[in-house]
Amino acid sequence: MKINVKPSSNPVSPADREKMVAEPGFGKYFTDHMVTAEWNQSSGWSDVNVHAYGPISLDPAAMVFHYGQEIFEGMKAYSQPDGSIALFRPAANGLRFAKSAARITLPELPVDDFVNAVEALVKIDAGWVPRKIGESLYIRPFMIATEVGLGVRPSNKALFAVIATPAAAYFNSAKAVTVWISTEYVRAALGGTGEAKCGGNYAASLLAQQQAAQQGCDQVVWLDAKERRWVEEMGGMNLYFVKGRGKDATIFTPKLTGTLLPGITRDSILTVAQDLGYKVEEGMISTDEWRDGVASGEISEIFACGTAAVIAPVGTAKSAHGTWVTGDGNPGPITMEIRNHLLGVQHGTIADKHGWMKKVSL
Ligand SMILES: *Cc1c(COP(=O)(O)O)cnc(C)c1O
Repeated sequence: MKINVKPSSNPVSPADREKMVAEPGFGKYFTDHMVTAEWNQSSGWSDVNVHAYGPISLDPAAMVFHYGQEIFEGMKAYSQPDGSIALFRPAANGLRFAKSAARITLPELPVDDFVNAVEALVKIDAGWVPRKIGESLYIRPFMIATEVGLGVRPSNKALFAVIATPAAAYFNSAKAVTVWISTEYVRAALGGTGEAKCGGNYAASLLAQQQAAQQGCDQVVWLDAKERRWVEEMGGMNLYFVKGRGKDATIFTPKLTGTLLPGITRDSILTVAQDLGYKVEEGMISTDEWRDGVASGEISEIFACGTAAVIAPVGTAKSAHGTWVTGDGNPGPITMEIRNHLLGVQHGTIADKHGWMKKVSL
């Protein structure tokens, strides 16, 4: 796909942009440009267009409004010590985006076109990438069904778009997250859409998240749909349990059963933990094992991981059956070591021995 670039005639002034990038928050400011590309059944994908950020005009009967055919990705560009900018594992996001598309019967965008579109946006909006360690440009590719009509069937038209927002370092304010283990609501069941990164999964999760907040918790922990025993994820992040202490510790994460979202951060941590000399294990952990492991001290640290926060320590867990606490509310040493290592690779201060970073040609 060809990329047409039409620079914005009204970009944010450099002085204002500097102010926004210095205090970015998350999803508060969007960059000057966006990417769009259209697809239809008969002629396939059209060119990729990079143009001024702005509203999308759609017919009210566009299918996305009625049956929720939507997928998205979340990925980051990081500033590097030499002043360049690099994306973290963009092809992995592209591949997952294509898999999500297949599940939601949206068209599969070739991975190269996905990565090229993201790169084109980062290139034109390079001035929006924060420079401090932990800060990044968060990139949100998404795709929606745009055919007009109320018939229930796969849309024969789609819109692919990419937007970007400068993002602060999540850890600056991070205390351990408190979690509500929901036994009433589930995120995903086998055969459902749990493996796809689609908006519908999030729409279905909000009530449980609201319930978590009513319980005084920051996030909801999802259990398996069938037995309501096996720990799957936390909100929009994957979970890790540190079993044991020091260099003999095992870094454990729930295995991908078909209902978990296969996180790229989760996958990267399996590798990073081994690089750091830890054993890693993917398996099943029940809520009873969580409670007992914390009580006996066998589970010494728990953290959640995902692109937005990278790593967030998890402390108190609450459920209908009781409350139990891991650690002292601060991130544990192994959580911090893994977090610092991953961030070091992302920011180019630690050798990228797995070829994860893709430099954006500026
Ligand atoms: C996006 C997401 C994750 C984390 O995936 P990353 O690729 O690490 O950002 C985990 N769980 C859910 C439900 C998600 O949507």
